[in-house]
Amino acid sequence: MKCTLFIVGITCFFKASTQPQFELSENIYRVPYTSGTDVHITNDHSTHSPVGRYDMSGTGNGSSCSANYPIVAAAEGIIRRIVDNHNTKPPACDPNCADFNNYVWIEHANGEWSKYSHMKQFSTTVTAGLQVGDQVCAGTLLGYECEVGQASGPHLHFEVRRPNDPANIPVINSLSKHYFDAVDDITSSASTACTYNSSLAVIASLVILNTGIRIYQAANTITVSAPTFNYLDGSNGMMHAGSSVILGPGFTASSGSYFHARIGNCATTGIAGACQ
Ligand SMILES: [Zn+2]
Repeated sequence: MKCTLFIVGITCFFKASTQPQFELSENIYRVPYTSGTDVHITNDHSTHSPVGRYDMSGTGNGSSCSANYPIVAAAEGIIRRIVDNHNTKPPACDPNCADFNNYVWIEHANGEWSKYSHMKQFSTTVTAGLQVGDQVCAGTLLGYECEVGQASGPHLHFEVRRPNDPANIPVINSLSKHYFDAVDDITSSASTACTYNSSLAVIASLVILNTGIRIYQAANTITVSAPTFNYLDGSNGMMHAGSSVILGPGFTASSGSYFHARIGNCATTGIAGACQ
């Protein structure tokens, strides 16, 4: 705050905070470029239209729409939606240009979803070999940066959303800086080791320690029948079953942990276009 004394009184000039009132994400998300990539933030959570999203682009490694800037999952999760058959920038169209864009939605523990847009044609389904339902680690290749859809120049559009919550959730990309600004130049760093276990219908005894993540999915029922299955402080987990999740007496989720259970089809998310 800067104050100036005038004859008629004191006028104070408040410097607007650069930290708008956005909710922080529950998950920690890495920068969604392969490790070691220099990344420039062009639109941050407060300057993007609409707000709450990021636009970022790889720098220093040649042109986009090639293999120069691999896009990776920002956190462990399950692929919920892929569109990667487009290859052009659209003509004049509706604001979302949904019929022209390529994108990937991933559902994470804590119920948050992340979206990656404008990627190169077929780089998700063919190059990365992904399909809906696949589990990915933080750092798993999703495709290549490009400018498909309503993109003004090559870049990655990245956002985090929570189903049924109209507010956008800016991301925590690191513990040292929770919000990136539109002038930032950053270098993507490596992820921690991927720790999910896949497709187990009956779960063995396990203690998930601090920062651990466990994701399970099964077509019908997940049953925790183990004597000990504990999510401890700082861990988070997710179970997705088609019909039921049965938690036996050994299951505990301690204070400070996050546990997310999804029952049924992903089409009930509430995020328009996320899972059609
Ligand atoms: Zn964008």
